[in-house]
Amino acid sequence: MQKNIRNFSIIAHIDHGKSTLADRLLELTGAIDRRQMKEQVLDTMDIERERGITIKLQPARMIWNTRTSASYELNLIDTPGHVDFSYEVSRSLAAVEGVLLVIDATQGVQAQTLANLHLAEEAGLAVIPVINKIDLPAADVEKTTLELIALGIDFACPPIVISAKSGTNIEKVLEAIIKFIPPPSGREKTVARALIFDSYFDSYRGVIVYVRVVDGTIRAGDELKTMQTGKVAEALEVGGVCLGLHHERELRAGQIGYIVTSLKDIAAARVGDTITTIISRQTSVVSSRSSGDQRPTANDLPLAGYKEPQPMVYAGLYTASGDDYQKLRDALAKLKLNDAALQYEPSSSTAFGFGFRAGFLGLLHLEVVKERLEREYDLDLVVTVPTVAYRPQSQNPISNAQPLTSNQWEEPWVKLEIILPEEYLGGAMQLVIGRRGVLGDVKYLGERVVLEAEVPLGEVIIDFYDKLKAATSGYGSVSYDLIGYRPADLVQLDILVAGDKVDALSRLVPKVNVDFIARQVVAKLKEAVPRQSFEVKLQAAVGAKIIASERLAPFRKDVTEKLYGGDITRKRKLLEKQKKGKKKMARLGTVEVPTEVFVKLLKY
Ligand code: GDP
Ligand code: MG
Repeated sequence: MQKNIRNFSIIAHIDHGKSTLADRLLELTGAIDRRQMKEQVLDTMDIERERGITIKLQPARMIWNTRTSASYELNLIDTPGHVDFSYEVSRSLAAVEGVLLVIDATQGVQAQTLANLHLAEEAGLAVIPVINKIDLPAADVEKTTLELIALGIDFACPPIVISAKSGTNIEKVLEAIIKFIPPPSGREKTVARALIFDSYFDSYRGVIVYVRVVDGTIRAGDELKTMQTGKVAEALEVGGVCLGLHHERELRAGQIGYIVTSLKDIAAARVGDTITTIISRQTSVVSSRSSGDQRPTANDLPLAGYKEPQPMVYAGLYTASGDDYQKLRDALAKLKLNDAALQYEPSSSTAFGFGFRAGFLGLLHLEVVKERLEREYDLDLVVTVPTVAYRPQSQNPISNAQPLTSNQWEEPWVKLEIILPEEYLGGAMQLVIGRRGVLGDVKYLGERVVLEAEVPLGEVIIDFYDKLKAATSGYGSVSYDLIGYRPADLVQLDILVAGDKVDALSRLVPKVNVDFIARQVVAKLKEAVPRQSFEVKLQAAVGAKIIASERLAPFRKDVTEKLYGGDITRKRKLLEKQKKGKKKMARLGTVEVPTEVFVKLLKY
């Protein structure tokens, strides 16, 4: 019964305690037994556990028996807090009726708190504010509450004050979920419609989709159709998700769960698409439906989907040793099955041979993809300097810095929301202006302020956050949202190592910054490139004109020299090690450079 179902997401700024609150909810409702319990149990990917962050949304079902012995099915979706993954948040929000907005009482409202709150408001969801970490001495519940009031949002209830770590007041959160989040209100006796909010490919079972059933019922054996891609498939198994799949007889209107489909191609089960049932094989159900309800009609429109995730940054991906190209190609294809936001196309470079040009949601996404490729597929990668998608005016985006005669360029712009204590406002404004930005409104948020601004994306992705932290003694936080393309005056900056142009290092840069960037890149190169047995010239050029130059003095390094005695095994070990290190070298013309150089060059 829908009136006993509650679907909600947990949203917050990164590290405010979403996943820890999810732990406590799962524990208190007995959804996960104590032996299985560990910190942030829903963060299941290796990389999530190591970094202590959530990357993928994660649904989990619980049954809560209240003191009055009513029984509720609660479906939570834990979400990532980092701006790169806000796409995951918006997908989660389309599957629920309400959210828990978690705020760390030692930090107060932060940029992603606000950004996620905007998303929840747009989706028309009930918002339950939860003030977390009250066990910490630095917690300031009053100040945090005042900030929430200053937001002027119509919250579903007053803030609930908790410690997710020590478990204080978790039951109050459950009570509020039941009281203040509306139950789903789908049509029960009709053809099923379910929104796909996540999907992945399981090599044993095929395509598995996570869905929110809006109308009707889906059972194993039902024939399904995806409304946008028009693919027909069978539901092989259905059920609920809670750290794994728990199969059940059916998924009913209002429920969140999974469907193992007979599809073999993940592209057929696109996230955001609507699944409907064609004909139920369960005759009892068919007979209980009115005959007109058996097939989708014009009235059964697809549910509102999502915006396609848009790549924000592009970079070249190459293997450190040329013969791994096939391996990289296969690895990317596999990774893409579980990471729809990843986009790529073949590309080549004279320095690195064949590789790919890939689009990412941001630098963290890029790092995650690189790390997963290296770890899960045993690859050694060179990632070229990330750039945004510049495009010639009124044409499709191009992802590569290629020489074009036209200087009629456009570049993506974002709207920033920066939250910071008022005394740092001047510094933050200067930072924005220095990044070719346009200042917007300043709003008050209790004792702090929200500074709005519009800035070219290319000026934000690289080190804006670090610079903001430095300008605000660590108190500032920022979120951004793409607002569109605007004209840009760009030139192509080329980098030459020992007289050879390194195409992988060429990029488009704003004309006003070109001298500054050229000097920085060359200086960084000088730091990063190991000395060679000959002198190496490092230069930056625009067209034929050299605009920055450095010389790297020759030096011969023989690591075995360091060894006093003549221990031959030690010497051999060292040479082995050196040889291993060599694998990670990339050739730049006549010069060998460790692939890390490219990573260091990211931060200009
Ligand atoms: P998320 O990024 O919002 O999912 O945050 P996590 O749940 O991963 O928590 C981030 C960090 O805050 C972890 O180190 C948690 O142990 C810690 N944390 C979460 N809730 C509390 C709390 O109530 N009190 C304290 N002291 N630490 C907490
Ligand atoms: Mg988390």
